[in-house]
Amino acid sequence: MSNRGCSDSSCPFRSHGGMRTNGGCRCFGKGATMTPDERSQLRAWVHEMRVERDAAVAKLGRVIATLRDAPNALRMTQELLTDISSILRDKT
Ligand SMILES: [Zn+2]
Repeated sequence: MSNRGCSDSSCPFRSHGGMRTNGGCRCFGKGATMTPDERSQLRAWVHEMRVERDAAVAKLGRVIATLRDAPNALRMTQELLTDISSILRDKT
């Protein structure tokens, strides 16, 4: 998605970086079907969706990392319970 959109700095379809222009985003056209305010609102929505998508992808990455470590946490818990069980058995 980062390579879509026009080269304008306000374009919500492009990631930051690279050569940018300042004439205004041209992705929604300048036809009579949308007013400048509607185009501006649409750009804001697209930008908001990208921010939310990026946040969701980052959160998913953290969940995956946690799940990858889950077997290790389970093994350590089992070892701890075995140790506690052994200690309790020795006390009785
Ligand atoms: Zn654009």
